[in-house]
Amino acid sequence: MTERTLAIIKPDAVKRNLIGAIAARIESAGLAPIAMKMTRLSKAQAEGFYHVHKGKGFFDSLVAFMISGPVVLMILEGEDAIKKWREVMGATDPARAAPGTIRKNFALDIEKNSVHGSDAPETAAFETGYFFNALEICHPES
Ligand code: ADP
Ligand code: MG
Repeated sequence: MTERTLAIIKPDAVKRNLIGAIAARIESAGLAPIAMKMTRLSKAQAEGFYHVHKGKGFFDSLVAFMISGPVVLMILEGEDAIKKWREVMGATDPARAAPGTIRKNFALDIEKNSVHGSDAPETAAFETGYFFNALEICHPES
């Protein structure tokens, strides 16, 4: 099934000039960026995006990290895009991530783990709509 998912290249990866390397892995996996922008999130935007994690021990530090520098936001489209992007990213903790995944290769630690991906159709719908409106989505003609 063709799906859409939200991807973020997090501040740790942008700072280390990894936008291109991560975009190459996205395209190699058969995932098509259909919307993309670079921005620096406000505290309120980061807190709203991660609202499901509010109250957890890592929440405040996560928000501080996510606003510590620019991020790249993308909507990826493709067959089973949600699961596929999470496979390409690897597990949350780079120590547990499979060899060859983005997090295994690039993440600094469990927090500064280089990329975000939606985890289910409901969260993908919320997250893509949180950052992009319909006019920002490109539909390439094939
Ligand atoms: P994922 O990004 O793999 O979906 P979660 O949704 O569980 O992971 O967590 C959101 C983000 O919060 C993670 O990507 C990571 O940046 C941070 N995070 C998660 N767990 C921890 C933790 N135990 N300590 C520090 N940061 C964490
Ligand atoms: Mg998550």
